[in-house]
Amino acid sequence: MKKRPSFPIRLDREHDKAPVDTLLSATKVVKHNHPLQPKAKASNPNTPLGLGLDSQKVRQKMVDKLELQGLEDEWVLRAMSTIERHRFVDTALVNQAYEDTSLPIGFGQTISKPNVVARMLALLRGGRNLLINGKIGKVLEIGTGCGYQAALLGEIAKEVYSIERIKGLHEKALEHLGSLGTQNIHLLLADGMLGHPEAAPFNGIISAAGGETLPQVWIDQLAVGGRLVAPWAQIKGGSQSLLVIDKTPTGIERQILEPVHFVPLKSGIA
Ligand code: SAH
Repeated sequence: MKKRPSFPIRLDREHDKAPVDTLLSATKVVKHNHPLQPKAKASNPNTPLGLGLDSQKVRQKMVDKLELQGLEDEWVLRAMSTIERHRFVDTALVNQAYEDTSLPIGFGQTISKPNVVARMLALLRGGRNLLINGKIGKVLEIGTGCGYQAALLGEIAKEVYSIERIKGLHEKALEHLGSLGTQNIHLLLADGMLGHPEAAPFNGIISAAGGETLPQVWIDQLAVGGRLVAPWAQIKGGSQSLLVIDKTPTGIERQILEPVHFVPLKSGIA
C-alpha cells in the first residue's frame, strides 16, 4: 500500500455559478511562432533506459535534449531534472517516460510531451511577475492529471493549487505526490473552469486542457502582473494554439503562439 498524502487536500468543492465565456478584449495581439525547435538530432531513442538506480542519467539526457531544443530557463531545467517522470506513469510505460512523447494516464487522458510541458512552464515564468527568490508566488493549474506538471510547478512556485475533474485521476495524483512528500501543492477535485476563488488572486494560471472556451473567471482570478498560459482554439472545433495572457495595470495583453494539441477542457466533475 502506498502511504496516504500528507499535504493539504480539499475535496468536492461545490459552485453555484456557471463559468462565463469571454471574448477577450485584447489590448495587444502578437502572433509568434516560437516553439522549442530541435537544434540537433536527438540521441539514440533506443538507448536502454536503465531506470531504477540509473534514472537520473536518463532524465538528464531528456533535460540536455530540452536545452538543445532551446529551453534556457534554469529553474525549469532544474525542475525537469529533479522530478522523476517515470513515477507518474503506469508501470508498462516506464521505459518511455523520458522520451519526448505524450503518454496515456488512464481515463482517456494524456500526460503532455516533456518538450511542451517545459515550454509552458518557461512561458509561465517569463511574465511580469515579481519572482520571490526566483519562484513564482501562487499558481493555479487546471488539469492535474497524474500530477507530473503539478510536481514541476511545486519546484518553481511557492504555492500550487491544482484542480482535476476526474476523481480517478485526482486520486492517482494524490498517491504520486503523496509519495514525494510535497508540502506546497494543494490538489482539488473540482471543475477547473470555475477556477479557485478561495485562493485567488494567482500569479500564474496554467491549463493542461483546452477548447474554444476561456473562462472569464481565470482572468478575474489572475493577479495584476500575473500570466496565464493555456491551449485555446479560436473557433469551435478548430485547432488549438498556446495562448498567453498577461494582466497588466492597464489591461490585458494577449499572445497567440504555436499550435498545440491538448485534451478538451470539460465542465463538471466525473
Ligand atoms: N498536467 C497533467 C496533464 C493531464 S491532461 C499531467 O501532468 O498529467 C489534462 C487534464 O485536464 C485531464 O486529466 C482532464 O481530466 C483535465 N481537465 C479537463 N477539463 C477540466 C476541468 N474543467 N477542470 C479540471 N480538470 C480538467
